[in-house]
Amino acid sequence: MSSDSVLANTDIVVVGAGLSGLCTAWELRQRGFGVVVVEQRFPAYGASGRNPGALWLQTRRSGLELGLARHGKRKYEEYVSIVGDVFDYRCEGGLFFFETEEQGAVLQSYVQDRRAAGLEIEMLDHAAAAKKSRVLPRSAIGAVFCADDAQVDSLQFISAIEAACIRAGVRVFRNTAVLTTLRDRDQAIGVRTVRGDVLASGVVWATGAWAKTLISEGIHVPVQTVRIGQLMMQPVETGTTPLLHGPQGVHGSGALVELADFDPEAFATPLSGEGDGAYESYNDTAMLNRAGALYVGHSIDGRGSLNPHISLASTNVMAALAAERYPSYSDHGVTGLWAGLGSETPDQLPIVGRIDSIYLNVGHDWGVSSAPACAEVLAAIVAGETNEFGAALAPDRAALQGATD
Ligand SMILES: Cc1cc2nc3c(=O)[nH]c(=O)nc-3n(C[C@H](O)[C@H](O)[C@H](O)COP(=O)(O)OP(=O)(O)OC[C@H]3O[C@@H](n4cnc5c(N)ncnc54)[C@H](O)[C@@H]3O)c2cc1C
Repeated sequence: MSSDSVLANTDIVVVGAGLSGLCTAWELRQRGFGVVVVEQRFPAYGASGRNPGALWLQTRRSGLELGLARHGKRKYEEYVSIVGDVFDYRCEGGLFFFETEEQGAVLQSYVQDRRAAGLEIEMLDHAAAAKKSRVLPRSAIGAVFCADDAQVDSLQFISAIEAACIRAGVRVFRNTAVLTTLRDRDQAIGVRTVRGDVLASGVVWATGAWAKTLISEGIHVPVQTVRIGQLMMQPVETGTTPLLHGPQGVHGSGALVELADFDPEAFATPLSGEGDGAYESYNDTAMLNRAGALYVGHSIDGRGSLNPHISLASTNVMAALAAERYPSYSDHGVTGLWAGLGSETPDQLPIVGRIDSIYLNVGHDWGVSSAPACAEVLAAIVAGETNEFGAALAPDRAALQGATD
């Protein structure tokens, strides 16, 4: 490819067609910008096409984190009215179940804390929890139920928002990996891709875990990558079912683990002591999609890696936990076992804003809710509008200073 081959000329080029990139493209287009999206493989190739679509509100820390998650949930309600009811948005709540009295005592405090944060939440005994969920494990002795938790089908959402973007005039280029940002002195003026240059007055990187690769341009984005494992079984039950979170791994539950009386021993994963160290931790979740397929998650390993494939050790952990939780489904087929690359930041909040003449919308640990919300934040920044979340998510915020990943 010669450096003078121009693939497109536009106002803003968005790199990455996951939830962050496509929602940002949509928001920018709504503000009148010409937008081109370039994706190295295909939309949803990254984490956005590998998750079960949980919109947990109850596990989000009070304040900014919960505010952002609530805003993300509202964005899906808005998207239903834009793209239609085609991505299985449903608000059937979430159950955080427990298996010991010690866990139950901590979850009592959690309920008080969550109620103070304005969530509709209550403690249930096993019988009441089992009435809400047909896939509640028998080992659960009770559960916290939060009516605000919701779920989407991320893959269907990505298809719908990509189609809506294209209808609105956004051009989406697949198999178009970006090699580098083009600059005129200090100013970004587009990107060089494997298929030619895209010239633009603004460049947005929405590259998920691959934000790390910006280091080759001298831009350090403090995103730590992790490999998140997921197991999927053929349909086991149909009907409405809340999201499920179990106590054997509370990796993504900031609101719980930061409680004053949280006891890590009470929530340790029994499996983590047995492994060979190839996986680090576990986030104990289970949920159904609308067709009744069961998702069991999540092993967490591969810190720092950009290898998205599930390790053997994590494969064993996932299979063991699924078998332990759901012995009655042992004859059902496993239809998928995969991993995807997650992103973590030092304060578990996304990084949204301008750095070194480019715009970032990255660092989404729980991006099913944060990505659509942050797309609006970033589009507002590009358009010069004010936004309630902008300052707290900025790349130059104090919590990110000095972070080495
Ligand atoms: C197994 C798993 C389960 C999860 N479960 C949940 C959940 O239930 N709830 C929740 O909130 N979150 C969950 N997450 C996290 C969530 O999926 C992510 O936070 C979210 O998808 C991030 O979206 P993104 O658009 O920022 O990144 P991605 O979806 O990773 O998109 C980045 C895109 O950029 C592209 N790209 C990268 N580099 C380039 C380049 N140089 N040129 C062109 N394109 C490039 C990639 O190919 C990719 O398509 C889960 C993640 C995994 C892996």
